Amino acid sequence: MQDFSKGAAWMKGRVIPIDEAVISVTDWGLTHSDITYDVVGVWEGAFFRLDAYLERFEASMAALRLDVGMDLATIRQVLHRMVATSGLHHSYCAMVASRGSPIIPGSRDPRDCANHFYAWNVPYIHVIPTEVAERGAHLKIATARRIPPDSVDPRAKNYHWGDFTRGLFEAKEAGFDTTVLLDHAGNLTEGPGFNIFAVKDSAIITPELGCLEGITRRTVLEIAEDLGLPTAIRALPLAEFIEADEVFTATTGGGPVPVVKVDDRHFSNGAPGPVTQQIRADYWQWMMDPRFREEIAYPA
Ligand code: PLP
Repeated sequence: MQDFSKGAAWMKGRVIPIDEAVISVTDWGLTHSDITYDVVGVWEGAFFRLDAYLERFEASMAALRLDVGMDLATIRQVLHRMVATSGLHHSYCAMVASRGSPIIPGSRDPRDCANHFYAWNVPYIHVIPTEVAERGAHLKIATARRIPPDSVDPRAKNYHWGDFTRGLFEAKEAGFDTTVLLDHAGNLTEGPGFNIFAVKDSAIITPELGCLEGITRRTVLEIAEDLGLPTAIRALPLAEFIEADEVFTATTGGGPVPVVKVDDRHFSNGAPGPVTQQIRADYWQWMMDPRFREEIAYPA
């Protein structure tokens, strides 16, 4: 009997316990970060907005000129089978396309690599822990600037985390929960695993450039529109951000999360703000809305 309690992986046609999943040390995904991925949430036994994640994954593969020889229908089936086998009803489910190892040993030509697909899923991850989300997160603006989008396109989800990791060390060592990065023009971009939002006079503003086009960000903007709140996707300068009424983050791993402190500035009297709390509550309702759910057939 295989143990899937820590999660499962799909590799080369087989579903295996996650601890057994390995990739080659010569894989360019590892040696060059030449890899893209996506992460869809599983909540109460169903994928949330799976179509949107699959479409973004396909666009990321095209942007990186990766061809794993599988269409989206096949990838969808793989994800269903893997999560069903894992038995996890709340899960963080990753799909990955890697450049692979050179077929001609030592070749430096990316066209010589054997691109491949794998997937894995683990118990649901809250990028910002739930107890921090309850009180409101403390964010430190990183000294490191986000890698420019004309160097690494953040819209193709990637593992180029050098800037985020520097920011995380800085934030943790200064007693903050996490970090958020500016671009070279001084505008907000995103944080390690989440998009960022400002609320001013009930309008929701989120950066346009230098960030992943988050599916949770899309959901948040749709919720805001449903609530009749104005929304804007545009440049968000630090000076404007710091003067916002409320600030929050959003990601597949935990949904919208209030921020109560950025550097030494406190927001909404140090408590999660009302607009953020409304969006957060609605988000968890949307997670259970059949319009967005694709049920998983777990073995009996
Ligand atoms: N930005 C980065 C760098 C991310 O890694 C993620 C998600 O993991 C996000 C933003 C949020 O995107 P999504 O809502 O699609 O999870």
